[in-house]
Order: sequence, then C-alpha cells, then structure tokens
Amino acid sequence: MTTKVLIVEDEQAIRQLVDHTLSNAGFEVLQASDAEQARTMIHKPPPDIVLMDWMLPGASGIELTRALKSDKITRDIPVIMLTARGDEDDKVRGLDSGAEDYIAKPFSPREMVARIRAVLRRVSPHATEEPVAVGKLKLDPSAHRVTFNGATIDMGPTEFRLLHFFMTHQDKVYSRSRLLDRVWGTNVYIEERTVDVHIRRLRKALEPFGAEQLLQTVRGAGYRFSGVAESHAGH
Ligand code: CA
Repeated sequence: MTTKVLIVEDEQAIRQLVDHTLSNAGFEVLQASDAEQARTMIHKPPPDIVLMDWMLPGASGIELTRALKSDKITRDIPVIMLTARGDEDDKVRGLDSGAEDYIAKPFSPREMVARIRAVLRRVSPHATEEPVAVGKLKLDPSAHRVTFNGATIDMGPTEFRLLHFFMTHQDKVYSRSRLLDRVWGTNVYIEERTVDVHIRRLRKALEPFGAEQLLQTVRGAGYRFSGVAESHAGH
C-alpha cells in the first residue's frame, strides 16, 4: 500500500521538486496545477494526503481546503498548507480553513517528509506502514501479516485492509457507506452489502482465535471495532 500524496501547486519547479523528494521517500505523487484540476483528481482514487499551495491561480489553496473539508467525501483527507508567508496570522488562517498542518516555504525536503509522516500518523494511521496491535492481535502492513498471540491469521487483501482500518479507528461506529469510502475508495461503485460479505469473511478468519468479538455489529448503524470486549473476556 503506497501512500498517495496530491500536490496542488501552480509552480512547476516546486511540483517537480516535491515529486522527486517524495518519490524517493517511497510515496506515490499526483500533481495538480490549480484548484480545478485538484477537484477532479481528488476522487480517482482519493489521495492519502494533500499538499496545498496557498497562492493558486483561480480559487486559492485556502478556498479549496475549505471546500474539501466541508464535503463529507473528502473531509477526512488531511491537508498540509504550503506557503511563502511566514506570518503568524496567516498560519492561523491556514489552520482555520481546516488544514492539519502548515509548512512555510522555503522548506527542506527532509522537513516536508517528516511533517507528512507526522500528520499521517496522527490523522490516518491506516495509511502508514507502522505495525498496529490490539491486545494479542497484531497487524504488520509492511509484512502484510496478521498474527494472534504469534500465530498467523490468513485472510484476503480486502479483509486485511478492512482490519487495518478498524484497528486504527477503534471504538467508532462506521456505516457501510462510510466503510466503502474509507476502505474501498470514493470512486468505486460497489453495493453496500459487499461490505457485509467482507465483514463476514473477516470474522470467520478471526474466529479460530476467539477474536471475532472485536468486530461488533451495531444494529441500524454499521460496525465497530473495539478492544474492550476482548479485555472483558480475558478477565
Ligand atoms: Ca503558488
């Protein structure tokens, strides 16, 4: 799972520098030169994070960030504002628009990579390659491996992505359509009952380890993953 970064920047030289730096750091880079182009690209498939230049021709980076943050399909995509302005007031305005972080130009490539990783860890842990653990259940994205108390659990790629999402978004209820958006992407046309099929398969994979109770059905609302049930069972 390569992390996709969308850079929205009208200056080609900066886009290329960012592309070069981030590609070397193992990210997949998508480029847009204005807000219009960014709007089309954001849905197919959605990037994991957006680097947004403040000054753009047409709609500004601030306006585009506000628009993304008020749309339920794109509001969860983290945005880092890039700007030549070093002013504190501008920083506040940038963050007020809903951006998760702010980098002043000129920035070092190393700093940019570190800031992107920090925001992803905070906002979308499922988009990072870091291992996650809930009790005895462990998932390692880079090794593509799930274990329970050290024993490997076999599952398909969709169940793996679903479990990764749940393990990094515990104790919240997700409707089927929200799971489709977050795990499958916003530009895929899949029926909601497909989610149920994969939830069933995931539970079946967890069952031999007694871990299926972590994945709870919330009647009329959707699904929730919670480590609480497991700790109760253990006492
Ligand atoms: Ca610019």
